[in-house]
Amino acid sequence: MKTTRRSVLKAIGGISLGGFLSTMGFGRTGSESFGYSQTENETDVLVVGGGPAGIIAAIQAARAGAKTYLLERGSQLGGNTTTGGVSFPGLFDAWGKQIIAGIGWELVKDVVTLDGGNLPDFSKVPDSHWMNQVHVNQFLYVLLAEEKCQQAGVQIAYHEFPQAITKTDEGWLVDCYGFGTRRRVKCKQIIDCTGGAVVVGLLGFQRLREEETQPGSMLFKLDKANNPGRPNGPGAGLLDAIYVHGADSSNSRTVTATNLTGRKSILEKVRKENRRLMHMQPEAGFRESYRILGETIITQEDYTSGRVFKDSISNAFYPVDLHTKDGVKPKPLQPGTVPTVPLSALVPKGSSNIIVAGRCVSSDRLANSGLRVQASCMAMGQAAGAAAALAVKLNITPMKVPLTNIQELLIANKAIVPKTS
Ligand SMILES: Cc1cc2nc3c(=O)[nH]c(=O)nc-3n(C[C@H](O)[C@H](O)[C@H](O)COP(=O)(O)OP(=O)(O)OC[C@H]3O[C@@H](n4cnc5c(N)ncnc54)[C@H](O)[C@@H]3O)c2cc1C
Repeated sequence: MKTTRRSVLKAIGGISLGGFLSTMGFGRTGSESFGYSQTENETDVLVVGGGPAGIIAAIQAARAGAKTYLLERGSQLGGNTTTGGVSFPGLFDAWGKQIIAGIGWELVKDVVTLDGGNLPDFSKVPDSHWMNQVHVNQFLYVLLAEEKCQQAGVQIAYHEFPQAITKTDEGWLVDCYGFGTRRRVKCKQIIDCTGGAVVVGLLGFQRLREEETQPGSMLFKLDKANNPGRPNGPGAGLLDAIYVHGADSSNSRTVTATNLTGRKSILEKVRKENRRLMHMQPEAGFRESYRILGETIITQEDYTSGRVFKDSISNAFYPVDLHTKDGVKPKPLQPGTVPTVPLSALVPKGSSNIIVAGRCVSSDRLANSGLRVQASCMAMGQAAGAAAALAVKLNITPMKVPLTNIQELLIANKAIVPKTS
């Protein structure tokens, strides 16, 4: 039998990268210049950031028929859920019923099911809010997120980030860099899901940020010295966390400084306590950086009163949960209260053809300390993906898309939408 490269790869259980490379815009479509592999792409929607908000935004936009690219600076999807190790997304329920569903819930439910785990019973109101967070296997989560993106037709570009953006008559020209790669993307709509509104900052729109921000946390697991055992459970089960004050996800330097500080603290702990390091996430988890100044700012009062705005498109639920140097004292919401997010809080003030989703939602700091949790970010992501896809179809900016069109598309994709009238 003739031995080909493909048959060798098959025999050793490997896979060929050829197909991936050509669909990702490398290979034949790229050209070499100054040592960079260059490529140009045209797309309807460009999602930047592949965390809880970005994954769901991209899948929703693609399922609605928009050609969609997803840029992620890291090497996997999931953001804080996977790379940061916060593998317990919440909260999908409030006061005995499910209030967030849709594509985010589909992903979480499928991960738990494939992993043989149990889902919380949302008909029961737990004694403490965190009890109904859903524990997911962070490794499986990455695999299913990738699979669902690819099945929807989303093109994923890892290790890439936008470096310069120019406005055009049809939308945007976005110059992106990776290591050894350059990509110029012509797109109609951008969804900024970077956590810290990096794209909004690049475009020069106003962002909000206080002098003090919440600490990040580096997640890890220690065990007894000389204990030969393995950490409990796939995805490492429950991890310990150490605060990294001043943690900032804004750029490569601030992320580097955060990771170095977090790891140094863990090393000190290992030495001081004479324990064995069993597990450590590759990056710190980030709670807070920039938020956008949107067409609407969600205030603490809006959040804690469960205000329904005339353009509310998703629900949220979590206590006001501000971490400081003294720790955290969550302030639970009053029984029956379910906060909501209006479309106008996802749109940078004075902008067109760009929308955000996730923890950078336009909100004051205390409202943001509750809004930032993963289920709420997923629901915002689905709403932003729907609004962007419809904006492409109607050739208008997301704020001008009739609310009923967005609501109908979201409901068709199993999202739970607040009643606005
Ligand atoms: C320690 C800790 C504990 C938490 N506890 C909980 C909890 O119990 N339950 C809960 O639900 N939530 C919890 N959270 C909050 C939650 O995890 C985050 O707020 C949530 O992940 C935010 O989602 P996001 O998609 O907005 O942003 P992120 O998760 O931050 O994802 C942003 C993504 O964008 C990428 N990115 C950033 N900049 C660029 C760029 N320039 N180009 C390309 N890609 C870029 C990042 O690599 C990342 O993948 C916790 C957070 C932390 C840190």
